[in-house]
Amino acid sequence: MKQSKTQEVMSCGFVYAIAVCILSHSPLALGAVPDHGKGIRGESQPSTKTLIRVRSGVNIHKGRFRGYDLTLNSGLLRFHQKKLFSNTTDWEFYCQKDFVVVKEPKLKKLFRFKSPLRVSAAAGFIRVNDRGVRGELFIHSKPKGCDVVNLVDIEMYLIGLVNAEFSTAWSQESVKAQIIAARSYAYYQALDAQKKVNRTYDVESTVEDQVYPGVARENSIASRLVKATRGVVLSPENRPSVPLKAFYHSTCGGHTELPENVWGKKTRGFEEKVSCKYCRESPRFKWKIRLGLDNLRTIFKAQLRKEMPPNSKWPKDWRNVLMYGSLDSVYTQNLSASGRVSAVQSVWRTISGERVTLPVGGPEFRQWVGSSKLFSNRYIIWPENTAGGKREWVLLGRGYGHGVGMCQWGAKVMGDKGFKMDQILSHYYPGSRLNKIW
Ligand SMILES: [Zn+2]
Repeated sequence: MKQSKTQEVMSCGFVYAIAVCILSHSPLALGAVPDHGKGIRGESQPSTKTLIRVRSGVNIHKGRFRGYDLTLNSGLLRFHQKKLFSNTTDWEFYCQKDFVVVKEPKLKKLFRFKSPLRVSAAAGFIRVNDRGVRGELFIHSKPKGCDVVNLVDIEMYLIGLVNAEFSTAWSQESVKAQIIAARSYAYYQALDAQKKVNRTYDVESTVEDQVYPGVARENSIASRLVKATRGVVLSPENRPSVPLKAFYHSTCGGHTELPENVWGKKTRGFEEKVSCKYCRESPRFKWKIRLGLDNLRTIFKAQLRKEMPPNSKWPKDWRNVLMYGSLDSVYTQNLSASGRVSAVQSVWRTISGERVTLPVGGPEFRQWVGSSKLFSNRYIIWPENTAGGKREWVLLGRGYGHGVGMCQWGAKVMGDKGFKMDQILSHYYPGSRLNKIW
């Protein structure tokens, strides 16, 4: 067979061959892939694994993976495959329109696979871009590079995230409560993702959803406690068949918040705020930060990179205001009933001396400043002059995170005080029920 530098995996039964016919099919539902137990789309399979698609890389220009006895499949069909037997070398990959290209390191050959490329290892363990993951990889060709999605048993995913989202040094009961909240949230997101056309993943591996560093922080306590709560999720009252979108956050600062006050949208199962006296020992129960005039100018000017004004209430010449104007004052407005900032007003003076107000939503402003710097949206703000005569704004606030659902510090302290896992959960998710669904 004549070999070309670029080979293609075909739909005609060839393992790999020169371009004869390109694999073309509509992707299978990931949950329906054989050998992987009960799919998240509900198909009944011989084993009881429930899988989740975790996006672990976005817009990757060039990546690497490594594993023992790798099998590469084009698309989602198992029989169009190539086996790679090298286990000591990193395989490079990059994406071209609709294709994933894999480079064989020693022979310097390129193999082109129709996107997505599925990578499986006999041992069920793969290293991708310095992150060790269990399960399989799906590499999707996207307009700006490759997206890497890890298809993994949801129970293994939980073992990986325990020490990233919370800590096995905490009491067993509080860790078990956290695991059940994390499982409920992940399963909710997985079911929700099924409703979205062309969605290639269920959860992000970042604070966007839940932080998942792969196997790096797995330990025996995480493994034991995940196993002890296997398949247990929270459900809203009278809805035992659906998981609760069990939001949680670091520190509530005195009481939790309703989703509609944070994201402007109600969520089933969250009907009441909960007062919390347990997170007082959190280092973020109360906090104070300072933002200088220069900080604030930089934060607002970063918006110039956007094509559209970040807020519909900004005037047409908003670019001129930001580029040439000076920032006069900043104040908060429309504090929600629970003390959260719903809008930040920034007042600018243009070069012609006109005063222009550019309003920003509270949650957006927190994102602009950085959610690990402006710890929550519950604060008051006032201007001060420094000893050197410079202007700055003092923000005095409470709590860390969005404030919805379980307060992690509160849960930790409840566990230390001897409360049981179900007591912790019913405190922060009133009205919810526990169900073992696998
Ligand atoms: Zn709290």
